[in-house]
Amino acid sequence: MGFFDHARYVELTVHFECNLRCEHCMIEDTMKRLRPETLESLYEVIEINKKSDKWDGIIFTGSEVTLWAELPRFVAIARKNGFKKARIQTHGMRLAKKEYARKLIDAGVNEFFISVTAGDAATHDEITQVPGSFAKTMAAFEVLDEFNDVDLISNTVITKRSYKQLRTIVQNLSHIKNLVQMDFWNYWPMSEVDEKDLIVEHLELLPFIREALTLAVKYERSVELKNYPECLLGNLHTFLINDQPKLYIDKSFWTEFEKNGFHQCVFKNECQAKQCLGLNTAYINKHGFHENDLLPFA
Ligand code: SF4
Repeated sequence: MGFFDHARYVELTVHFECNLRCEHCMIEDTMKRLRPETLESLYEVIEINKKSDKWDGIIFTGSEVTLWAELPRFVAIARKNGFKKARIQTHGMRLAKKEYARKLIDAGVNEFFISVTAGDAATHDEITQVPGSFAKTMAAFEVLDEFNDVDLISNTVITKRSYKQLRTIVQNLSHIKNLVQMDFWNYWPMSEVDEKDLIVEHLELLPFIREALTLAVKYERSVELKNYPECLLGNLHTFLINDQPKLYIDKSFWTEFEKNGFHQCVFKNECQAKQCLGLNTAYINKHGFHENDLLPFA
């Protein structure tokens, strides 16, 4: 089980600019076109929540929200209007500066979801295409670990470049006390084709996932794995959690998202898996359906 209940969170995409150029970025082609949510959207979710009490937490996301001057104000409004939790999704670089981390925490941020793309500086900086980015992101974990009542979640997109370093990522963060959860998102390209050649074949990836998940559990982390066939995980299948919070995002995003073609599987009609997204179009085009490897849940 994950540490957080996704159904109790609502997510607002409020900012679409970034100072990294991660090669696995899901919105790099749409970033300039997507319209961010506004103060009006924030008050809309506040009003919904006052009537329904369906969410404890609000997540501010998009591209890199720490570059957005309005972030502390939006967070403070959300917290004053009933949200117990305010989370940001970030690459963390700006949080390496303690004054800025304190500013956000004083405004009401109490959960930080931080992207770590690899286990060493050379690989991370190659993926982000910004020298020095790894050092700043790792420094952010250290800075945020000095605060009380702050929960940290690491997030790693698994690609051909990073998959052999999953264990190292877990190891690197093993001393961070505030780290409550580690997420691992198996890459999909928002396209029918893996043009950048970043998808890893599932069976090749499996031992590295096993190793990382097992180690994270040893360090008493909660773990969530996304987008991997549930039946291949054996006794680790409970770590597959594809649930997501209610998302407020520009509608045109979903046109792009549909290109992924999730939920394809030769056993789709008989399998009783609870969390599986099956295979997606780009994966199948590259590696096939794995009809001899998958074991549908009875
Ligand atoms: S058989 Fe298909 S749907 Fe069932 S768990 Fe495996 S990949 Fe998922």
